Amino acid sequence: MNIVIAGAGIAGLSAAEAARKEDPKAEIYLFSAERQRPYFRPRLPEVVAGTAEPDGIYVHPEQWFRDRRLEFRLGESLVEYIPESRLARGSLGSRLLCDRLLIATGAAPFLPEAAKSFTLPGVYPLRTLLDAQDMRHAALKARTAVLLGSGLLGLEAGFALTRLGLTVHVLERAGRILPFQTTPRSADILRRALEAKSFVFHLESEAERAEGAERLERVVLKSGAGINCDLMAVSAGVRPEISLAGPLGLRTENGIVVDQYMETTSEGVYAAGDCAQTPDRRGGMWSIARAEGLAAGSNMARADRAARAPYAPSPPPAVLKVAGIDLTSVGNIDPEGKLRSAESEEGGVYRKAVLSPAGLLAGFTVLGSREGVPELTRAVNRKAVPEDMLESLARPGFDFKRLDSLPG
Ligand SMILES: Cc1cc2nc3c(=O)[nH]c(=O)nc-3n(C[C@H](O)[C@H](O)[C@H](O)COP(=O)(O)OP(=O)(O)OC[C@H]3O[C@@H](n4cnc5c(N)ncnc54)[C@H](O)[C@@H]3O)c2cc1C
Repeated sequence: MNIVIAGAGIAGLSAAEAARKEDPKAEIYLFSAERQRPYFRPRLPEVVAGTAEPDGIYVHPEQWFRDRRLEFRLGESLVEYIPESRLARGSLGSRLLCDRLLIATGAAPFLPEAAKSFTLPGVYPLRTLLDAQDMRHAALKARTAVLLGSGLLGLEAGFALTRLGLTVHVLERAGRILPFQTTPRSADILRRALEAKSFVFHLESEAERAEGAERLERVVLKSGAGINCDLMAVSAGVRPEISLAGPLGLRTENGIVVDQYMETTSEGVYAAGDCAQTPDRRGGMWSIARAEGLAAGSNMARADRAARAPYAPSPPPAVLKVAGIDLTSVGNIDPEGKLRSAESEEGGVYRKAVLSPAGLLAGFTVLGSREGVPELTRAVNRKAVPEDMLESLARPGFDFKRLDSLPG
């Protein structure tokens, strides 16, 4: 069987690994628009900061690929697949017969108009190793950066820039930072902690345009205010890279639609990772792209379609690190404050526990510590928490093991 994979990010790589396990004889080809073998994309901010070398973030050594007979087409994009002749064509002239195709082309950064319309040097998205090297190169000569977006990836990129000595002005459209992972109070605490690390936040702010004679000199906000800067880092979300889907007539919504086997609407063509839309509609994370890639690879390598196994999504990790600070949010953290909850802030640690109307622990968030996280996670949606315990749950020093013995 000939298996062709477009994209050698973690989804494509994991699919190749699983396909090889399933079929030791298959020919497996990996096309990669990037020139480097697969690397840990979440570690790109370390490359920007200079705390990791570009060749120190590869997922596997070269020998790993040789041992598994995985054939790379590095620096060559897959440009076309013709189902009638089963022919896959690469941008550098490769032509391969293909029994199964996986589209694992990931996502591309979304550039807001203010970034897109500025064509001189100074605007840097962060998606690839090349982007990270470019951003670092520019940052080493810069003093002030404007960062579009205060999501997790943006703050990590911004943190890398602050480690190089830059002041980072963050423009965020919403009224608080990390709006999806925080409550108003935890966002406020996090913002203050980051301000102590050379971040400057401009909430409810958007860039109108970028200005400069030969390179970026200034970003003008919609309010009319201006920020003088040498660099604009862009982290305003991503868009799935689905250009292979149109000519193949594949169904797309917020990605290439796949069923529970990771197969698209065309038999024999699969999709996984950031470019795919699974029935549970989750994505945009490393562990999810890996799990989807493994499921797609093992299913596409099975000659017998009836033997395929449905992909079973597991919950995404809830423990994040934001600029070196732990942040965990599990279940309903009730940012609007509609449910019964208890909050505390002490010694740089913020906690909030939320109770559902049925008296179950509905969710919790902890900033600045990981204490109690496993016990609280186990308890969410399963444990009835007595009202008098709710307050102590949010207090430091609580014996979280007590949660495990509550009836549930
Ligand atoms: C800076 C940064 C930090 C991140 N931090 C985290 C984190 O802390 N935790 C987390 O869970 N996730 C994080 N993510 C997200 C995570 O990295 C992605 O969800 C994951 O890498 C998606 O994997 P993928 O294989 O689907 O796509 P990608 O990693 O985007 O790989 C797709 C590959 O396909 C290539 N390609 C595109 N078109 C073609 C074509 N036609 N032919 C051949 N190749 C093609 C692309 O160039 C790319 O190399 C981060 C992402 C970034 C950018």
